[in-house]
Amino acid sequence: MFVIVGFIVAIVLIIVFSNPRMRGCRWREDRRAGPGAYRCAACGATTVTPDGKPPRRCMAKDAPPR
Ligand SMILES: [Zn+2]
Repeated sequence: MFVIVGFIVAIVLIIVFSNPRMRGCRWREDRRAGPGAYRCAACGATTVTPDGKPPRRCMAKDAPPR
């Protein structure tokens, strides 16, 4: 029984981590927040990059709860 539950959990985790919305952030420049500030249109995370370019990784974990 526990094997089946663990198998289902594993499938759910694979689906979640393979979801493009979870993987890739769609960064938009947020000029109101200052130079080099970006806001993710997918998860709402905000960040500031020193080089002024959008970050590559998703910051969904750092996003404030909505
Ligand atoms: Zn994101």
